Amino acid sequence: MVDRLHKGEKILRGIPVSAGVCRGKLLVLDKQRQVVTRQDLSESEAGEEVNRLQRALVTTRHQILEVQHKLAENIGAEQASIFDAHLMVLEDPALIDEAVRVIQSEKVNAEFAFHAVSERYALALSKVDDEYLRERVSDMRDVTGRVINNLQGRTDEVDLRHLSEPCIIIAHDLTPSRTAQLDRQNVLGFATDVGSKTSHTAIMARSLRIPAVVGLKTASDELENGEYALLDGFNGVIILNPTDQTLFEYGQLIRKQVTLEEKLRDTISQPAVTLDNHRVLLSANIEQAADAASATASGAEGVGLFRTEYLFINRDSPPTEEEQYQSYRQVAAALKPHPVVIRTLDLGGDKFLSHLHVPTEMNPFLGWRAIRFCLQQRDVFGAQLRAILRASVEGNVKMMYPMISGLDELNQANALLAEFKAELRQQNVPFDDKLEVGVMIEIPSAALVADSLARRSRFFSIGTNDLIQYSLAVDRMNEKIAHLYEPTHPAILRLIKNTVDAAHAHKVWVSVCGEMAGDPVLAPLLIGLGVDELSAAPPLLAQVKYLIRRLKVTDTRQLAEFALTCESPTEILGRCQELAQRAAPSLFER
Ligand code: PEP
Ligand code: MG
Repeated sequence: MVDRLHKGEKILRGIPVSAGVCRGKLLVLDKQRQVVTRQDLSESEAGEEVNRLQRALVTTRHQILEVQHKLAENIGAEQASIFDAHLMVLEDPALIDEAVRVIQSEKVNAEFAFHAVSERYALALSKVDDEYLRERVSDMRDVTGRVINNLQGRTDEVDLRHLSEPCIIIAHDLTPSRTAQLDRQNVLGFATDVGSKTSHTAIMARSLRIPAVVGLKTASDELENGEYALLDGFNGVIILNPTDQTLFEYGQLIRKQVTLEEKLRDTISQPAVTLDNHRVLLSANIEQAADAASATASGAEGVGLFRTEYLFINRDSPPTEEEQYQSYRQVAAALKPHPVVIRTLDLGGDKFLSHLHVPTEMNPFLGWRAIRFCLQQRDVFGAQLRAILRASVEGNVKMMYPMISGLDELNQANALLAEFKAELRQQNVPFDDKLEVGVMIEIPSAALVADSLARRSRFFSIGTNDLIQYSLAVDRMNEKIAHLYEPTHPAILRLIKNTVDAAHAHKVWVSVCGEMAGDPVLAPLLIGLGVDELSAAPPLLAQVKYLIRRLKVTDTRQLAEFALTCESPTEILGRCQELAQRAAPSLFER
């Protein structure tokens, strides 16, 4: 469909990450990234420049007061008080006097002077051995950005939570926290320059059912606000100025999808069982308590992965134990008697939280992430463990640790768990003492020592998203090397096989909760490798089940046997595609 272009159209190709087609006006974010350049001025110009800075400071102050006022009305005075620190920056005489002095003595433009002075302050603050002062660095930079926007006559950043009309968002990058904020009513779809299929932004798009394309490289530079385009999340393209012919062709594709969705809806209440009677457990991946409803509606037989870090995102302080308990309890009760696997905090990588003060790292995916962070942040981890334990009496709750690299980390985490259990016992707070604890297998070292981890775990959940990035040394966020991110690489399949064999030898259950599990081309291979459970975003479950019901487990085992002896990822992928297309051709009509 996207091979033939019609006159007047322009096509941009990227990576399809969330199915669906939409068309509409583009809203291009980050169009004018802030650039501060030095301009040399005459004596008289420098005088006027000081006035310009003062006007910008006044405007910024009004803007902040207005935001603060709105926030106090809508959310509460406590949240609004965070802007007090911003106002203090604007009123700091030392900072302002110094900026004025630079303008006058060096005869430079106001934005250059204010930026230079404020950066000097921020740098000095970041080195101070006082946590409160270090926290002021981001306030400083935030306010400076606003002042410079005003000096350059640019409007504030778009509020993605409240858009005035339906549009397709184009951005250089969208962080998972910004994606989580998208105004679902008005965002038709989105596209970014960077990213790949397993970046958390892509994962969010799939669970929010927003058509999305990433890895478009230069889209945010090439496209303009207000242009009209069609976004095709099946094939990973944006077509600018689509002709009537193109719109007609896409209309046909959409009709086919509607027919397919009707068929898929019928499978929701049916069991995930192959033609030769092999049962596969299908569970849902969720990001917040509110997703419990879509998990149940999708026919999931439980939650295989609750990514709890999203409870920590888009707020100014970590959620309290009580808030977490309420969320976990809500999901456990909604899914009861089905299991809910709560994953402890997997902060880091592409999921940053400003309030937990995680410093910027050279290699965040190899850094202070997930269980490594939790083992050193006893208060944060403890609040979460207590909340999970308390919720465990409300349903069928299980818990797992992310990013375990070996036995030591598992033992340390379990030791802390035992301490918090003892604390709850002492306080007479009820919890399920037999709460099952599992381990995510997403680091190659964990897959290789799966036998010793299996002796101390009740279940494994293979996180293929990270397992692939770490095994193949391919950053899961980087669109330039996305072609090297190969789930069918023999090394990955051997690691999965090793994990499954070690687990089954110790009667340990194995799930896969990475994106491979929700991909109808790859799910049969996982079943053939002996995986017991597949866990994926609710919108993906129906198609996986539809396929399972048209497959024979013997065929999936043959596929896995072939894959384990084949040396070529492409050939293995080809065989996977053949099997899936033969079993359920209508899933692949695009
Ligand atoms: C994974 O790594 O496969 C996984 C499920 O965890 P996340 O995508 O949240 O890193
Ligand atoms: Mg992971």
